[in-house]
Amino acid sequence: MTAALRLLMLLLLPALSWAGSLPLPIGQAQVLPGPYMQYWKDPSGSADFTDVRNLPDSAWQEVGRRDASFGYGGSAYWLRLDVHNPHPRSLGWVLLVGNPLLDQLDAYGLDGTRIYRAGDQRPFDWRWVEHRQLLLPLQVGPGEKRRIWLRMQTAGSANLSASLMTRDAFDHQEQRSLLLQGLFFGALIAMFIYNLSIFGITRDRNYLWYSLFVASFGFYQFIQLGFALQWLWPNALTWHQLSFPFASALATLFGIQFTYGVLELDKAPKAYRRTTSILKAYTWLVLGMALFGPYTPALMGSFVIVAACAIAAFVITLLRWRAGFAAARLFALGWFVLISASLASILTGTGLLPYSLLTLHIQQIGGLIEMTVFSVALAARIRQAQEAERTAQARLIDQERRLRNEQAKHLELQTKISESLDQHVQERTATLQDTLQQLSRANLRLAEQNRRDGLTGLFNRQTLNEELVRAYARAERSRQSIAVLMLDLDHFKQVNDRYGHLAGDACLRHAAERFQQRLRSSDLLARFGGEEFVALLDNTDLTGALDLAEQLREDLAQHPCPYQQQDIPLSLSIGLYAGVPSEPGCAEHWLDLADRALYRAKAAGRNRVVCYDATAFSDA
Ligand code: GH3
Ligand code: MG
Ligand code: MG
Repeated sequence: MTAALRLLMLLLLPALSWAGSLPLPIGQAQVLPGPYMQYWKDPSGSADFTDVRNLPDSAWQEVGRRDASFGYGGSAYWLRLDVHNPHPRSLGWVLLVGNPLLDQLDAYGLDGTRIYRAGDQRPFDWRWVEHRQLLLPLQVGPGEKRRIWLRMQTAGSANLSASLMTRDAFDHQEQRSLLLQGLFFGALIAMFIYNLSIFGITRDRNYLWYSLFVASFGFYQFIQLGFALQWLWPNALTWHQLSFPFASALATLFGIQFTYGVLELDKAPKAYRRTTSILKAYTWLVLGMALFGPYTPALMGSFVIVAACAIAAFVITLLRWRAGFAAARLFALGWFVLISASLASILTGTGLLPYSLLTLHIQQIGGLIEMTVFSVALAARIRQAQEAERTAQARLIDQERRLRNEQAKHLELQTKISESLDQHVQERTATLQDTLQQLSRANLRLAEQNRRDGLTGLFNRQTLNEELVRAYARAERSRQSIAVLMLDLDHFKQVNDRYGHLAGDACLRHAAERFQQRLRSSDLLARFGGEEFVALLDNTDLTGALDLAEQLREDLAQHPCPYQQQDIPLSLSIGLYAGVPSEPGCAEHWLDLADRALYRAKAAGRNRVVCYDATAFSDA
C-alpha cells in the first residue's frame, strides 16, 4: 500500500512542479515542442545570452503553434523550452531542427556549459553531429528538469521546424528518411538520364530543356534538404547561401524554356511570347542577383519568380489546352501539382501552414509527381508525333494509290485511244491499199487496153512495133528464125458496101478469132490497120511460116463469117518474110518486106500466100 502511494507521489509531484515543461518522449514517439516554447524577438540581433536570461517573464511570448515559425525578416529569435525526464532512466534525446537553411542556430543548456553553435552560415564541422539537418543531442537525467535556450537568426525563413525524440527514434526515422530521399533523387537522376538520352536520339530540344529542368530542380532540392552543404561544399558558406536562389532561378529558367518549347508558344499568339520573354528576363535578373547581388532580394526574387512562372505556366497551359492543344492537358495537371506544392512550401516557410513531415517534403513530393506527369506528357508527345507521322504516311500512301489509279486510268484511256487510232489507221491503210490496188488494176487494165485494138481485142499496131523490135533482138541474139506475116482481107471494101459496116466489123472480129485459134501462145497477132493484120511467129523458119500462112488462108476461106442468118464469105492474102535476123535494128524493115510480099499476093490474084524472096523481088 505504502509502496503504491509512494509511486503515486513520485508520479504526481513532479507533474505539479513540471507544469509548462515538456515531458521527454520515449519509444518511437516524437513531439513538436512549439506549444511548450516561448520566444523573444531581437530585431537588432545584438542581445547575448546573459541579456536574454535576465529578461523578465513578461517579455516572453508563447509560440502557441506546434511549430516555431516566424517567416522572413532577418531578426534574431530567442526561444526557451523547458523539458523534463519523467522516466526512471536517462535516454539519449535529440532536438532535430529540420530546417537546414537556418543561417545561425545557437543552443544553450543542451549539455552542461557547452554552447551549440551551427547553421548553414557556419562551417559544417562545427556541428556536434555530422548531419544535413541541425541535430542537437540532449542528455537529461531521470526526474531532471532542463531549460533549453535557442537563438536563431537567418536571412531566409525563420522556421525552426523542431521535433524532439529519442536517439533511437531518430535513427529509425533517419533510415526511412534516407531511403525516401534516395528514392527521390534516384527517380530524378533516372528521369534526367532518360530525357537526356531521348534528346540524344531525337534531337528534340524540349527533352534537353526538360532534363536540365529536372537536374536543376534536383540540385535545388539537394541544397534545400542540406545535402549540398554536407557533401558538396561544407566550407563554401557564401556560395552555399547564394546557391539556393541560384538553383531555384536556374530550374525556373529551364522550366520556362521547356514549357515554351513543349506548348509550341513560338506558334502561339504574340502575347504568350511577350509574357515568356518578360518572365525569362526577370529570371535572368534573379540569377544575376543570386551570383553577384544581395542575398535577400535574390531569395525573395526567386520565390516570386517561381510563383509567377508556375502560375503563368498553369494559365498558359490551360489557355493552350482550350485552344485545342491536346498535349497541354497533362502539362496543366503537372503544373497544377507543382504550383500547389510550391505554394504549400512557401506558406509553410512563412508559418501560415504548420510544419510537418508532409509540408517539409511537399515540394519534393509535388516535384516528383510533376516530373512524372511531364515525363508521361512528353512520352504522349512522342506518340502524338508518331501518330501524326502515321497519319501523314497513310495520307501519302492513299495519295499514291489514287495517283496510281489515275495513272492506270490514263494509261487505259491512252491505250484505248491509240487502239482506236491504230484501228482507224489500219482501216484507212486497208482502204488506201485497196484503192491503190484498184487503181493499179485499172492502170494495168488501161495499159492493156492501150495495147489492144478496140474492135477485135488483138494487139494494136503500137504494141506490134514494140514486140517486133523485142522479138527481132531476141531472135538475133539466139540465132533463131522468126517470121512476119502480113494478112489482108480481099476486097473488103466490097464487103462493107454489100453488107454494111457493122457486118464488116463482125467479119473483122471473125477473121481475128479464126487466126488466133491457129496461132501458138508464143505467137503474136496484131491488127495492123483497117482490114490488115500482122502475125509475128517466134522461133519459126520459112517452111513453118509458109505452112501456117497457108493454114490461115485456107481456114478463113472455108469458114465464112456468120452474120444475121447469112454467111459472108471471106478470103485472105498473106505476104510473109522469115529468117534469122542478121542486121540489128531492122525489125521494121522486115514488116516492109512482108508488106511487099502481100502486095505481090494481091497482084497475083489474091487469096494466096507469097513469101518475100530477095532475088525475085529485086527484079520487080
Ligand atoms: P483489096 O483486095 O485490094 O485489098 O481490096 P479492098 O477493098 O479490101 O482494099 P481497100 O484498101 O481499097 O479497101 C479497104 C476497105 O476496108 C475500105 C474500108 O471501107 C474497109 N475498112 C477499113 N477499116 C474498116 C473497119 O474498121 N470496118 C469496116 N467495116 N470496114 C473497114
Ligand atoms: Mg487493105
Ligand atoms: Mg483488102
